[in-house]
Amino acid sequence: MLTIQNSVNLTQLNTLHLNSIANHYIQLTALEQLDEIAAVINNYSRYFVLGGGSNLILPENYDGLVIHNQLKGVTFDNDGSDYKLVTAAAGEIWDDFVANCLENQAYGLENLSLIPGTVGASPVQNIGAYGVEVKDFIDYVTVYDLTIRKFVKLSNVECQFSYRNSYLKNKPQYLVTSVTFKLPKKAKLMISYGDITKQMANIDNPTADDLRACIIATRRSKLPDPAEIGNAGSFFHNPIIAAVQAQELKQRFPDLPIYPTTNAEQIKVSAGWLIDNLGLKGMRSGNLGVYPKQALVLVNYARANKDELIEFAKGIQSKVYEFYQIQLNIEPITP
Ligand SMILES: Cc1cc2nc3c(=O)[nH]c(=O)nc-3n(C[C@H](O)[C@H](O)[C@H](O)COP(=O)(O)OP(=O)(O)OC[C@H]3O[C@@H](n4cnc5c(N)ncnc54)[C@H](O)[C@@H]3O)c2cc1C
Repeated sequence: MLTIQNSVNLTQLNTLHLNSIANHYIQLTALEQLDEIAAVINNYSRYFVLGGGSNLILPENYDGLVIHNQLKGVTFDNDGSDYKLVTAAAGEIWDDFVANCLENQAYGLENLSLIPGTVGASPVQNIGAYGVEVKDFIDYVTVYDLTIRKFVKLSNVECQFSYRNSYLKNKPQYLVTSVTFKLPKKAKLMISYGDITKQMANIDNPTADDLRACIIATRRSKLPDPAEIGNAGSFFHNPIIAAVQAQELKQRFPDLPIYPTTNAEQIKVSAGWLIDNLGLKGMRSGNLGVYPKQALVLVNYARANKDELIEFAKGIQSKVYEFYQIQLNIEPITP
C-alpha cells in the first residue's frame, strides 16, 4: 500500500535550501513499490525522482509527485578476475559508497570522494572530478521504466555518457534502481590533475586511501558545506567553445585554463576562471552570492527562492557574454 503525502516541504531536501513545497511526495524504500507507483503516475501532472537534492533548482511550488529514492544495499561480486563487480542500490549515499569500496579493495572511485548525493543520480549527469568521470567505472545501470512498468538494463555504451550528460538525463520515466560498477582490485591512482599532483608528490608510495584523504581535504578547503551554506556545487558547466575562439581568448588572457576535448575542433574552458576574472568572486546581492573561495559556486545565504536565484545567475551570464561572447549554461536541473 502506497503512502502518498501532500504539501511536503522540500527546503531541507535540496542543498541550495531553496524554499519549495511539493504537492505530492512518496518515499521509495522497496522495489515492490514501483509497480504501484507506475499504476498511479498518470494521475499527476508531472513527477521527478529526488535523490540527495544536490543538483536541483526546485520551484517554490512543485505541483506534481516527488518520488524520493531511498533504496539501499550494496553487493560485492568477487569473480576471481582482476575486477570486482559492485552493485549499489540507487538510494545509497555516494560518498559512503566510495568509502565502502575502498574498504573492500575495489578501487577507482577515490577521485570522486565527497561529491554529495546518491548513487542513483551519479550516472544521470555522469558526475566527475579531478580527472575522473563515473562513466569510466560503470558496467551497467538498472532502471525501472515507469511507462512500460519493467526493469531495463542499460550497458555503459547505451547510457551515452558525455560531459555532465547521459541518455538517462532526457528520460524522466527511467528511475535508476541500481548501478553496477566494474572496479579494479589493484589501485591505479589518477593523480595528474592540478593541485592533486603537487600534494600527492609529498607522499611516499601513496595509496588509494591517501588519494581519497587528499581529495577530501582539497574539496573542504575550496567548496562550501551545504549543511552550512546552501549551494549546488558548480553552478555553470565549463563551456565548450570552438578551438579558434579558445586560441583568441588564450592570447588575450594567457592564464585562462583550457582543456582539450575528444573533438580537436572544440576546447573546454574554465567557467570559474571567466567569472573570477570579471571580479565577481565574493559578490553578493540580497540572499545570494558568488562563493568567495570559488567563483563557480553560487550560494544561498538565507531563504532565497528559485526566481531570485535565476535572476542572480542571469546577471552573471550576461556579464560573461558581454565580455567574452561565451554563453554559460546552468548545471543544476530544474524539474
Ligand atoms: C558542494 C557540492 C559539490 C559538488 N561537486 C560535484 C562534483 O565535483 N562533480 C559533479 O559532477 N557534481 C558535483 N555536485 C553536484 C551533485 O552532487 C551531483 O550532481 C550528484 O550526483 C547529485 O546527486 P543527488 O542524489 O543529490 O541528485 P538530485 O539533485 O536529487 O537529482 C539530480 C537529477 O538526477 C535525477 N535523479 C536522481 N536520482 C535519480 C534516480 N534514482 N533515477 C533517475 N533519476 C534520478 C533527478 O531527477 C534530477 O534530475 C556537487 C554538489 C554540491 C552541493
